[in-house]
Amino acid sequence: QDEVKALMQKLDASVEGKEPHPKPLQSFSHIGLPDDLLKLVMAAGFPGPSPIQSIGWPAALSGRDMVAVAQTGSGKTLGFLLPALVHMAAQPPVQPGEGPIALVLAPTRELAVQIQLEATKFTRGTAVRCVACYGGASRHSQVSQLRGGVEIIVATPGRLLDLVESRETCLRRVSYLVLDEADRMLDMGFEPQTTSLQRIPIPKIDTPRGGDDLRDAPSKKKGIPKVGIVMRRCPA
Ligand code: ADP
Ligand code: MG
Repeated sequence: QDEVKALMQKLDASVEGKEPHPKPLQSFSHIGLPDDLLKLVMAAGFPGPSPIQSIGWPAALSGRDMVAVAQTGSGKTLGFLLPALVHMAAQPPVQPGEGPIALVLAPTRELAVQIQLEATKFTRGTAVRCVACYGGASRHSQVSQLRGGVEIIVATPGRLLDLVESRETCLRRVSYLVLDEADRMLDMGFEPQTTSLQRIPIPKIDTPRGGDDLRDAPSKKKGIPKVGIVMRRCPA
């Protein structure tokens, strides 16, 4: 834990939560991504994980729930996307018509699109499908993409609620939930929608049992570890 403390200081970051805190990761290759995905990440040419990634990845991968706060531009998107991809690789394949394994909620259509672009960039040529669902755009193309089955949905709350209520998708397989820019989501008055979403059959995101690891295949485990992540921007 002294080593962890020293690393946190070096990263100019602080963590709270149950000790021992997972040790920050210092390289992309330590995250446990399947080879094809790791190649895509390496190809981006980043010098290394940003602090929020370095600290957040092992926390999410150990099956902990997490609230992460970091400045705009600090790499929060890959901070939640890469562990989602590691988690996904250990799940049974999504069948046509099945709902996603990872659900990312975002307050605006622009942000949803941006997250989906990042997801697409780092899953190109792999079996991972990511659909962005947001209002103010035709439902038709979103619905047809959902029909084939998807691994990741990035959505604004209102459109997601609409799609779930009309049974175009379901959230029974969701075991990785992210609220991106959660502070803004509340500022923008999305509380009624996010509250309504809690009434539909999204599995309860429990704090996982100690020792659960998203990198373990679910067949070796009784249940699938579930993770909830809340991303917030730094207060001004
Ligand atoms: P945030 O959500 O924290 O505001 P983003 O996730 O949108 O930030 O990331 C901002 C930019 O930084 C994006 O262009 C992204 O591709 C890039 N980025 C992500 N991770 C890294 C990294 N480890 N090193 C360098 N750049 C990165
Ligand atoms: Mg962001």
